[in-house]
Amino acid sequence: MAESAGTNWAGNHEYRAKGVLHPASAEDARRAVLRALDAGGRLRALGTRHCFNDIADTSGELVAMTALPPRFELDEAARTVTVSGGARYGDFAEQLDARGWALPNLASLPHISVAGAIATGTHGSGDRNASMAAVVAGIEFVDGTGALRVLRRGDEDFDGAVVGLGALGLVTAVTLDVVPTFQVAQTVYVDLDWSTVLDNLNAITSAAYSVSIFTRWVGGVQQIWLKRVVGDDSLQAPETFLGAAQATEKRHPLPGVAADSCTDQFGVPGPWYERLAHFRLAFTPSSGQEIQSEYLVPRERAADAVRALLPLSERMAPVLQVAELRTVASDGLWLSSAYQRDVLGIHFTWKRDQAGVEAVLPAVEGALFPLGARPHWGKVFLDPDHAVPSMYPRFDDFRALVAKYDPHGVFRNAYLDRLLA
Ligand SMILES: Cc1cc2nc3c(=O)[nH]c(=O)nc-3n(C[C@H](O)[C@H](O)[C@H](O)COP(=O)(O)OP(=O)(O)OC[C@H]3O[C@@H](n4cnc5c(N)ncnc54)[C@H](O)[C@@H]3O)c2cc1C
Repeated sequence: MAESAGTNWAGNHEYRAKGVLHPASAEDARRAVLRALDAGGRLRALGTRHCFNDIADTSGELVAMTALPPRFELDEAARTVTVSGGARYGDFAEQLDARGWALPNLASLPHISVAGAIATGTHGSGDRNASMAAVVAGIEFVDGTGALRVLRRGDEDFDGAVVGLGALGLVTAVTLDVVPTFQVAQTVYVDLDWSTVLDNLNAITSAAYSVSIFTRWVGGVQQIWLKRVVGDDSLQAPETFLGAAQATEKRHPLPGVAADSCTDQFGVPGPWYERLAHFRLAFTPSSGQEIQSEYLVPRERAADAVRALLPLSERMAPVLQVAELRTVASDGLWLSSAYQRDVLGIHFTWKRDQAGVEAVLPAVEGALFPLGARPHWGKVFLDPDHAVPSMYPRFDDFRALVAKYDPHGVFRNAYLDRLLA
């Protein structure tokens, strides 16, 4: 049963857990909780290990939710699909498309588990696209008493439970809203100076269904990815965009990295699941040798946030691979970084140099926290003044929810101890 718990995907965190359990059913997961309760032990749900901090760790045992058998229950009348909590988006996207349906959006990669993604408020991009958690219509989970719970949108605790940081239980199934399938065409434009970007920030982020701005801060913006819905936005991408030319070769967001792992570009139409993510399921996403951080600022402070970071360009450069700016629409989920406000996500793909990253983050947080930035729960952040709880109006209600669903602290870990302290 017990095995070394290994590391997260990025390799910058070695799990301290005593071992990894592989439940074959929700009932197995329930029994694991009951055993932990009996023994006074601790458990923690583990998804696909793509977080960059210790959020998924435990002093007890990890529960590999990816071991649960696949589920695919499409309810066309309700426009929902129910999948196993351990499913990766890439595991069922094609099947969903083949039945004529789609998810409204994806994060940059299809490799992450659904329950792991929603637990941390994972998002893609698009002025009118809310986070991956916002399209959750229901969750089924084993709580800290061993009870199997179901919460649906509209239920009292639902809005607090979806972005749950793994604190309420082991999510065994997730029901997601679906929309009629659609095609997307992706075009990459290269090289814009900062003054054009800052003068036109809203025009850029609203220029397509999903937009990503990639920059190394020094030397302006190197790439803008426009993902247009075929038949909605005009399929034909403009020859130039605010003066920026279309890329003439396929681009990876990271400088000097081959683009084979990226979804198709050059405006070639394709199914939503092969365009909305930047990276293809069969390949290693991003660089693989990296650490990530992200801060989500209110949209009205977006340009101020960029201006506050530009003076740090030279300081960030030695540890930075690339940064990405994306927009996320507001939702009502208590711990969503887009809770009740539209946001601009400012993401950093750093080199895998933990000390170097932690040396530059105080300056980044010093620039962004005063503007109301909320850090991504699954990426590296410092928050030395323990300011994060005060960024969430419903944080005390979330504490109460944790106490209600996990009264014995089965799912508590060092990350939650710091956060809930
Ligand atoms: C290359 C790369 C690209 C990324 N791109 C994006 C992006 O575009 N947008 C974005 O927002 N983020 C992005 N991320 C971050 C990533 O989406 C989040 O870290 C996400 O939480 C990872 O999901 P996971 O299944 O790997 O979770 P894990 O790291 O395995 O777990 C994360 C948290 O979820 C909990 N959890 C996992 N499964 C369950 C379950 N079944 N029940 C209850 N709790 C559970 C864990 O306990 C833990 O608290 C990226 C990460 C990588 C490595």
